[in-house]
Amino acid sequence: MEEVIEELPTIRTLRLTPPGNKPLFTYKPGQFAFIKPLGGDVIREEHPFTISSSPVNREAITFTIKALGDFTASLERMEPGVPVRVDAPYGVFSYQQRAPGEPMGMIAGGIGITPILSMLRTLRATEPERQVTFLWAVNQAEELFCKEELDAAAAEMPNFTWHPVVAFDESWPGEKGFIDKDKLGRLLLDGSDDANTSMDIYLCGPPVMMDLVTGHLKDLGVPAERILSERFSF
Ligand SMILES: Cc1cc2nc3c(=O)[nH]c(=O)nc-3n(C[C@H](O)[C@H](O)[C@H](O)COP(=O)(O)OP(=O)(O)OC[C@H]3O[C@@H](n4cnc5c(N)ncnc54)[C@H](O)[C@@H]3O)c2cc1C
Repeated sequence: MEEVIEELPTIRTLRLTPPGNKPLFTYKPGQFAFIKPLGGDVIREEHPFTISSSPVNREAITFTIKALGDFTASLERMEPGVPVRVDAPYGVFSYQQRAPGEPMGMIAGGIGITPILSMLRTLRATEPERQVTFLWAVNQAEELFCKEELDAAAAEMPNFTWHPVVAFDESWPGEKGFIDKDKLGRLLLDGSDDANTSMDIYLCGPPVMMDLVTGHLKDLGVPAERILSERFSF
């Protein structure tokens, strides 16, 4: 483990490099790993986390982790130098599993941004012209920990737009409340029937949000096979 970056009091990014001169394994953006700390003052259990970095970076990988329970809270005490076993890659939640070049919709709730972040970082480096619309739902504006990076990506990628949706902040100048049918139609599907069928939609967030959003998307005419999702619960 090379570095611990505090994104927010409850969210940390761990940056890891392979031991010695070993090459980094290959993975697709959006895939996950099982990680187990092998030392340090942290709980030495194995838990799954998405690789939040892009595979374009061949030096290091990152995991961006929210403290939710015993194990993840113990990572607050994680320090550089602690060896971590990484078993990867797993999962199929990646645009690289789908037909190339198509427009994409992405929807994240809170820390569910991690697979989407890996995909966006990769698209920014390799296909900056790709048409991508991203909706990120959070409770409070302070939780938008990578807002600057997303704004910079939007400035660089001509067909990428993103919309933060803040649930509980009346002073927020942008989209407020939850991601509902109106926002999905207006911000993601753009009122066009065509978009409903020609776009894959990637969804990752709390289970309740994912169930509601999936229902809204289907009501709006998005075929079930176009809705791709990753669940963080297991
Ligand atoms: C494929 C995958 C990718 C993941 N990627 C990330 C990531 O990039 N970043 C990240 O922060 N987390 C990610 N997670 C979630 C992460 O693995 C868990 O938050 C972590 O393992 C919880 O361990 P804990 O001991 O800290 O908390 P626990 O005590 O095990 O639980 C944490 C919280 O989740 C609740 N909970 C526990 N089990 C369930 C369940 N089955 N359904 C609903 N709620 C439950 C608990 O009540 C508690 O509030 C991912 C999970 C999976 C399966």
